[in-house]
This record gives sequence, structure tokens and C-alpha cells, in this order.
Amino acid sequence: MTTPSAQPVPSCMDDYDPNSMEVNAALERIKAAMNPISGFEKLPVRSALDRVLAKDVHSQIDVPGHTNSAMDGYAIAGSQIPVEGTCELKIVGTSWAGRPFPDKPGQNDCVRIMTGGVMPAGTDTVIMKEHVEVIEDRIRFDSSQKPGQNVRRAGEDIARGDIVLKTGKRLIPADIGLLASLGIGEVVVYRRLRVAFFSTGDELRSIGEPLEEGAIYDSNRYTLHGMLTRLGTQVIDMGVIRDVREDTFQAFSEAAKCADVIITSGGVSVGEADYVKEALESAGKVDFWKVAMKPGRPLAFGRVKEAYFFGLPGNPVSVMVTFYIFVQPALRKLMGEHDTDHLSLRMTCVSRLRKRPGRVEFQRGVMERNEQGDYVVRKTGPQGSGILSSMTEANCFIVLPMESGGVEPGTLVDVYPFPGLV
Ligand code: AMP
Ligand code: MG
Repeated sequence: MTTPSAQPVPSCMDDYDPNSMEVNAALERIKAAMNPISGFEKLPVRSALDRVLAKDVHSQIDVPGHTNSAMDGYAIAGSQIPVEGTCELKIVGTSWAGRPFPDKPGQNDCVRIMTGGVMPAGTDTVIMKEHVEVIEDRIRFDSSQKPGQNVRRAGEDIARGDIVLKTGKRLIPADIGLLASLGIGEVVVYRRLRVAFFSTGDELRSIGEPLEEGAIYDSNRYTLHGMLTRLGTQVIDMGVIRDVREDTFQAFSEAAKCADVIITSGGVSVGEADYVKEALESAGKVDFWKVAMKPGRPLAFGRVKEAYFFGLPGNPVSVMVTFYIFVQPALRKLMGEHDTDHLSLRMTCVSRLRKRPGRVEFQRGVMERNEQGDYVVRKTGPQGSGILSSMTEANCFIVLPMESGGVEPGTLVDVYPFPGLV
């Protein structure tokens, strides 16, 4: 068991590696290298859900279009409110939502009005129906009413010409509704990003193939397929590439022809990157990094011809962690999105977590409410980088900073919730 420690001083017991790059530095370098794609398409609003706006949207109309009532009641002029005592006005008609009162009420008149009804000419105030006494065709009310109350002004929500949605926004259902409320039928969005990916490794088999001794099923391509689909990219699954020189060269060359981004998994650890490294050296400019994180230390990043390249580690959990921490924000920037930061929350950890200083750790956690109704987080079972079930059980990453040691129950920790991340 490790004791809690916030000491940054490296010791022979910790994971500190002077050749490793810090997580934030790596992320900044990656994001800085991304230039949003330049292809756009015009889509009907419904089809634009989850797509990224490529052009600001301006309103062509005022919302609301007319000054109208916020309540069911009676429309009057503020000047009709008595200074003291009560007054009586005659009800001369009704303004319904969508069916305005056509005339101008007189000096001692008022108009019954429904929520959303257009304010009749000369009126600027609505008295709630609960605040009047109705006496046949008249209402009586007192001096407690305020001029201008209970009215929504034309253009109060959105004025004609206002920017309602900005370039770089990923459209959510509320945005689609907002566009509809302005009568806007089409928007310009970034085209879909094309992402090619393949797995590397002689040991990998696809579903349906027999597993000889030592062979394993390829899961990374399926995980990547899911994560990339969620992001709204156009996925190009290139299968498993054997650890063979020609195959590796050819895979990179084909991927670079059709994709904006190439992602591989496996083959980036020291000593086994030979073909991948060789192929990348001949086709592009790629750096092999050791990032001070766990899981997911090895990472390759650069360009293969015109395409961006991410070489992720092979272990299934490492693939997911490095994808969410580096690739997803990068792709979101590439897709034109402006806001690419993950949601981060702080809550009490109720488990004891083992950790050594020297690397940022992304442990798998479950956020849940305790008996007091507060969110707390506990770890899932074994945390090995090959144990994919730790990801399926989890609903968040517990993010432990580089310098921290183990965590005792009751400590506040940062978490990245999966909803909002994936
Ligand atoms: P590597 O970095 O290629 O040495 O891979 C590290 C570990 O991850 C090895 O145990 C591999 O068998 C495993 N691995 C690599 N690629 C995959 C994959 N696509 N699916 C499942 N496991 C993989
Ligand atoms: Mg391998």
C-alpha cells in the first residue's frame, strides 16, 4: 500500500522519467498543430444536429416579433393605473395568441389578453387575471399594479441582425430548435472529417477467425470505431496490418490518400516500432513520444503526407485513454469546433488508490451519490492497461496529478465524467 504524498521529489521508487513529456505539454503541442479543415456543406437544420457550424448564423427577424403578454390577464395603458384606491375599466374584446385585437381600446377600456397575445394599440401593461375583480363586462383593480409589467417586448430575446449561433459551435437539439424559431431552414457546417485507422500486430485476429495459441481478438478497432463514430467522423476501417514491412508501408500510403487523419494502435513501444517507424520516416514526419501518463505512455504524433497521424499504444485501455485525452480534443479542433475542453469535476474519492509520483494517472472510476445525496467516486476493479472491463464498468476517469502519490479515502480528486467526454 502506498501512503498519500504530494511530494514532487523523484525517488528510486517513483515513475518519474526525465525523457517523458508532460500530458498538458503534449496536448498543447498536438492542438497547436491542428488547422481546421476547409470543406463545408449546407444542410437542412435537422441534419445539422451534432455537426459544427462553419458560418455565424444571424437572425433575420425580431424574437418575439411583436410586443406580447407574458400572462393571461388584461391589457391596459400604464397611465390607467390609479394613484390610490381602485379603478374600473370596460372589457372591449380579447387578444388571443395568434389572433390580435384589431382596434384601439378607448380611454376607459381594457382588452382581455392571453399569454403570447399581441398587445393592442396604446397598451403597455398586463394585469394578471388573478389580480382583478370582474364585475359583468368590467374589471376592477387597485394601485398596486406597475406600469409595463408582464409584457415581453419585441426583439427582447433576439433582435434582427444579432448573431444567434457562432462558427465553431457543435449543434445541440436546442440550437436546432432555435434555428427553427427564426425560420432558418439551412446552415453551413464543416464537412465530415475522414479518419482511417488500423491495428498492427501478428497476434491479432478478427471476429470469426480461429484463435491459435497466443493469438487474441482485435478489440482496438472496434473501440476506435465507436469513439470515432460518436464524434461524428467518417470512419475508414483498414483492418489488421501484420508486422510485415511491405504491408505496413502500403497501409500508410493508402490511408494517406483517403484520410484527413490516420490512427493506428500498437507497435509504438520501444523495440517493436521498427516497421511502423520506418514506414513513417519514409512517408512523413512523426515524433515518438513518451508521455508521463498511465496508462498510455508511448505515443507517436505527426504527419503522413497531408494527413495527421496518431500512433496509439496497443493495450486496449491505453488506446481509450490516449484517444480521449489527446485525439478527441485534436479532432474536435480539426472539425472546426471552438470549445474542446473536457468537463472536469471535483469530488470525494471513497476508495484507496495506489499510485507512485511521476506520471499523471487516469484510473477508472464510478461516480455515484452517497447517502447524503452528494456525488462521490470509487475506483473500479483491477486497473491494468489491458483490462477493458474496467472501462465498461466505469463512468469516469479519476485524474491523479503527476506529483501525487496514493490517495486515501476521503480525499478530493478530479474526475472526467464519461457523459460529456464520450
Ligand atoms: P504493442 O504496443 O503492439 O506491443 O501492444 C501492447 C499490447 O496490446 C500487447 O499485449 C498487444 O497484444 C495488445 N494489443 C495490441 N493491439 C491490440 C488490439 N488491436 N486489440 C487488442 N489488443 C491489442
Ligand atoms: Mg504489437
